[in-house]
Amino acid sequence: MRIAMIGTGYVGLVSGACFADFGHRVCCVDKDASKIDGLNGGVMPIWEPGLEALVKSNVDRDRLTFTTDLATGVKDAEAVFIAVGTPARRGDGHADLTFVFEAVRELAKVMKPGTVVVTKSTVPVGTGDKIEAILKEEGVADFSVASNPEFLREGAAIADFKHPDRIVVGAQDDRAQEVLREIYRPLFLNRAPILFTGRRTAELTKYAANAFLAVKISFINEIADLCEAVGADVQEVARGIGLDNRIGAKFLHAGPGYGGSCFPKDTLALLQTAAEAGVEQRIVDTTVKVNDERKQAMAGRVADALGGSVRGKRIGVLGLAFKPNTDDMRDAPSIPLVRTLLEQGAEVVAFDPVAMENALPLFPGLKAADDAYGVAEGADALVIVTEWDEFRALDLVKLASRMRGNLLVDLRNVYDPDEAERAGLNYRGLGRAGSRTPPLRAAAE
Ligand code: NAD
Repeated sequence: MRIAMIGTGYVGLVSGACFADFGHRVCCVDKDASKIDGLNGGVMPIWEPGLEALVKSNVDRDRLTFTTDLATGVKDAEAVFIAVGTPARRGDGHADLTFVFEAVRELAKVMKPGTVVVTKSTVPVGTGDKIEAILKEEGVADFSVASNPEFLREGAAIADFKHPDRIVVGAQDDRAQEVLREIYRPLFLNRAPILFTGRRTAELTKYAANAFLAVKISFINEIADLCEAVGADVQEVARGIGLDNRIGAKFLHAGPGYGGSCFPKDTLALLQTAAEAGVEQRIVDTTVKVNDERKQAMAGRVADALGGSVRGKRIGVLGLAFKPNTDDMRDAPSIPLVRTLLEQGAEVVAFDPVAMENALPLFPGLKAADDAYGVAEGADALVIVTEWDEFRALDLVKLASRMRGNLLVDLRNVYDPDEAERAGLNYRGLGRAGSRTPPLRAAAE
């Protein structure tokens, strides 16, 4: 198949490269000339494991190309995917569809008859209908519009794309179904289930999936708070419930609140859709509030553990990206944490294995270190914010020896409290009130 991908970001680039790897001919289009120039020179615009090699091998086989020129990109394409951003609109949280509709209007001028236009971007219910109306308005007569939401996770995007739990296709006509079936045929051979649904159902399925996962995370976060109050251990509670197949172990890790480019904006957009439809979504509504409050509360945890104030303290932050294996800082829990610590007069030093470049402009005054031990140098407290693998096996004795104080606030429950305490650290995890903690070592002047 010949495929065009409009939008060459986390989703467009990974999807385009994977489709090319299936054997299709793919042209990825983006308005951002620096991104396309970089890609044409072999430079990836994002950090995603395995992406560079995948892109290179498909470019070398002439199956994957990049352009800023839409007409060139969609020439001969049987399917055109739209993978542009749909951020939350300022003020009301509605998904901002400006980029989608702009792309559709531009596409209308250059697409060939019979093209299947597929939304891969996460878009509210009814967007497919609006795209159809725009194309008609622009005088396009023969086309199909389908919805094919993407469920990949940053950090594991290629594996997720190639081994999806399911593929959801919302198609209203046979042509769209056939084209998408053919595009995904290599995955049927891997027995990936493909669900053909109505277009609106496919659009809503994506939001329902993300909202459900957000609820699951917020649920275990609240259970973690309860664990702290009653002397239970949330890690063990999560394991105890997660082994139940009806519940499942994933997304049951207590933490500083969910962030990233999807859950925060998609939960808000779902609430907007529900409000417009006049249907209450109280569980998701509460989840959004619980998560916002949690993210805001993390700096207070650090202050409490330091005796009430962070003013004049040196605080080391391990990890800034919203999760490991990505450089994506969108809505990361580190943002309110680091900003509040800085506002409250702390000196903050941080290290993230790949997100420093994206993160530093967000935090004027933040100092950068070269690794975890550099972060620990002279610190009164260390805070683990992102559970990168390289933070999971640190030499805690060495870390403690570099510090001025001895507080380790582990917002991801990476370390065993006893091991941390044996290393001389005053360990504060989440939802683990049972752990024995030595008294706080006074910071040396
Ligand atoms: P992104 O911001 O990384 O990439 C979007 C790209 O689209 C940008 O490079 C931008 O320059 C380009 N663009 C915008 N308008 C354009 C136009 N008219 N023509 C050509 N290019 C244009 O976004 P992303 O994270 O890849 O997300 C894209 C969509 O996929 C969103 O709707 C998102 O919700 C959804 N999604 C994202 C993820 C994820 O993990 N990031 C997962 C599943 C679904």
